[in-house]
Amino acid sequence: MSTRALMIPARVAIAQRAHKCKANQKHLISQGQYRFEVKNERNWDKYCLTCGNKIMLKLISDSSALMEDFKKYHTC
Ligand SMILES: [Zn+2]
Repeated sequence: MSTRALMIPARVAIAQRAHKCKANQKHLISQGQYRFEVKNERNWDKYCLTCGNKIMLKLISDSSALMEDFKKYHTC
């Protein structure tokens, strides 16, 4: 049996056109700028790097908390 990944696919990529950030309509992403993309079914949700950074910090925080819980019950 194989194990599954918990993380939703995400990547940093260059914007092909100018558009707004998914998290905040006031954040504009220019064509050619780097953006953070998170897989959402067949599409990718696109965020500016400021919001992307917040998402990454949340991921680290949540996974660290889960790891601490995990370590209480599993020792090897
Ligand atoms: Zn943003």
